[in-house]
Amino acid sequence: MGTAKILVTGATGQLGTLIVKHLVQKLPRGSVVAGGRNADKAPPGAEFRTLDYNVPSSIDAALAGVTRVILVSGTEIGKRVQQHQAVVEAALRAGVRLLAYTSILKADTNPFLLATEHRATEQLLATAGLPYILLRNGWYSENYTGTAAMAIQFGVIQSASGNARFSTAPRDDYAAGAAALILRDDHKPGQAYELAGSTSFTKQEYADLLTRKSGKNISVQNLTAAEYVAALMQAGLPEGLAKILADSDSKSADGWLFNDSRTLAHAIGRSTVPFEQTLDAALSTVR
Ligand code: NAP
Repeated sequence: MGTAKILVTGATGQLGTLIVKHLVQKLPRGSVVAGGRNADKAPPGAEFRTLDYNVPSSIDAALAGVTRVILVSGTEIGKRVQQHQAVVEAALRAGVRLLAYTSILKADTNPFLLATEHRATEQLLATAGLPYILLRNGWYSENYTGTAAMAIQFGVIQSASGNARFSTAPRDDYAAGAAALILRDDHKPGQAYELAGSTSFTKQEYADLLTRKSGKNISVQNLTAAEYVAALMQAGLPEGLAKILADSDSKSADGWLFNDSRTLAHAIGRSTVPFEQTLDAALSTVR
């Protein structure tokens, strides 16, 4: 792909920083542009350009000389479709040849509240006239390992997901997948990649793993969606976020966060990092 530049948006965030890392490893110096609001959080090895989804002129400026874009979905729920649209419109103006958008598993039919804005973004991409692919990411392993120490402390994992299986992978594997896919030229127009971990677990299996790691008995407390909202709020989460998390967890009982296609493994040329390995790394930082 010559010396054309690739822009990663949200590059100061956790996923974006890792995508930049993988691209910098693969491409000649000067090829990777990290777009973000805060230069103090610029990832190493890339050219940093100021990019705020709410300021279209900043997106135009960040796209100078850019032919490929990874649009990392925004975090401001309720504003995201407008923000993503601003990036898509700027990419059209800039003549971008391929845009990859980080969506959610099965976004076209996924009933999660969280999927609404992803689906709307996919729909606007479908009619925008810009070449694009969809990186439909499953859950990050870190969504669970980030609270593993707390689960051990309290001896309980709260759950509204029944026997659901979660095909998680660490952020770094999704980032490696994004970096690999944006560099390929063999995509079908609008191709959707369902990206998820190579292995999966239930909450009970997760509790069993924590029991083994900690030597303490960790049990699963099965809750209804409404009870889970209340529990999350009692733990200090704002009501809006508690409702979104409980909604995803309870609806995942129908399999929305399970995917055994190994599409991510295929993209990165290896199986994803096992959940237990990410868990060990997380627990080693708190011991
Ligand atoms: P993160 O660490 O919070 O990073 C979000 C990035 O978005 C940051 O760089 C942030 O910039 C940037 N951003 C937010 N508002 C912006 C704006 N108005 N203009 C420009 N940039 C803006 O999140 P992450 O862990 O990397 O996750 C990436 C995305 O995946 C999230 O945004 C979310 O949609 C989704 N997600 C997925 C999962 C999953 O399990 N699959 C879990 C959580 C989130 P600043 O550094 O300036 O704040």
